[in-house]
Amino acid sequence: MLTVELYNLKEVLDLDCIFCKIAKKEIPAEIVYEDDKIIAFKDVNPASPTHILFIPKEHIESVNFLNEEHKHLIGEIFLRIKEVAKEMNIDEDGYRIVNNCGELGGQTVNHLHFHLLAGRQMQWPPG
Ligand code: C5P
Repeated sequence: MLTVELYNLKEVLDLDCIFCKIAKKEIPAEIVYEDDKIIAFKDVNPASPTHILFIPKEHIESVNFLNEEHKHLIGEIFLRIKEVAKEMNIDEDGYRIVNNCGELGGQTVNHLHFHLLAGRQMQWPPG
């Protein structure tokens, strides 16, 4: 019983989560935007000339773990993406927002994040 409760606590906090550590400044990242709920930083392995990750500071594993209480947060993330895209002058040429969910979706970090990709012609369908 105690084991199950501790396991659930670890799931909620996710003490091993690399993006939680970035949000808490325990490991470095090139931060381009931050407020009390959201942080955006440059991807360490960029897939395009501009590649920024937007994450909620709260540990949410993926889209699968969203609930009604997250509606406002997700809307805010998209508004911040729009603003950062404008500040970086990538809004007029265009950009791509990507969310990978789960193993077949290509998610490798289990903390909800949205990729902002720009600076080259994107292809469709994605690989
Ligand atoms: O959607 P997915 O989970 O595959 O994306 C994770 C992204 O996080 C990758 O693009 C990877 O380069 C990035 N990453 C990062 N900094 C880390 C670990 C991963 O920018 N410390």
